[in-house]
Amino acid sequence: RPTIGVFALQGDVREHRAMLEACGVATVGVRRPSELAGLDGIVLPGGESTTMDKLARTFDLFEPLRDALRDGLPAFGTCAGMIMLADHIESGIAGQETFGGLDVVVRRNAFGRQVDSFEEVVRFDPSWSEGFDFPATFIRAPWVEKVGDGVEVVARARLADGGDRIVGVRRGGLLATSFHPEITGDRRIHELFVDLVRHG
Ligand code: GLN
Repeated sequence: RPTIGVFALQGDVREHRAMLEACGVATVGVRRPSELAGLDGIVLPGGESTTMDKLARTFDLFEPLRDALRDGLPAFGTCAGMIMLADHIESGIAGQETFGGLDVVVRRNAFGRQVDSFEEVVRFDPSWSEGFDFPATFIRAPWVEKVGDGVEVVARARLADGGDRIVGVRRGGLLATSFHPEITGDRRIHELFVDLVRHG
């Protein structure tokens, strides 16, 4: 069975590991570069992207992880993890960097203060599986402002003004959501990521 690492320097690591193990994969908490060896995929959890960036540097994990993503390690990022997978961020703090890999522009804390956190049913429409409605929890969530060539939009959230925003993207083995499927008890999106890890 595949082994999936969970970036474990900051964020909701435990929730992701529980979800992945319920999907039948082995998990490893990743805090140091040597723990990247032998992984079939990695999850970047929700938390705080500025802290993840700093801690990854402090623990010399930043460059090895960035390189592993460049070399094709499948990855699933949720919320702060989505930010860490984005090639470009808006509203980052000065000097904030991401691991990158996904050619998207992400806006941090995009939904605004009045709606710090909320739940909404979003339509999830992946090209590699059937679509479904998913109960999504957003917590100081980013949204995706722009996607590059070849990036598939897999989920959109509706706004009160009738517009919508991109909240799920995928390219190859890289998947990212603005929301937190790890805290819902609903395994369907983790299962889709495990599919990508197993079958590419
Ligand atoms: N706002 C956080 C950040 O910029 C993300 C919040 C979350 O992961 N729930 O990293």
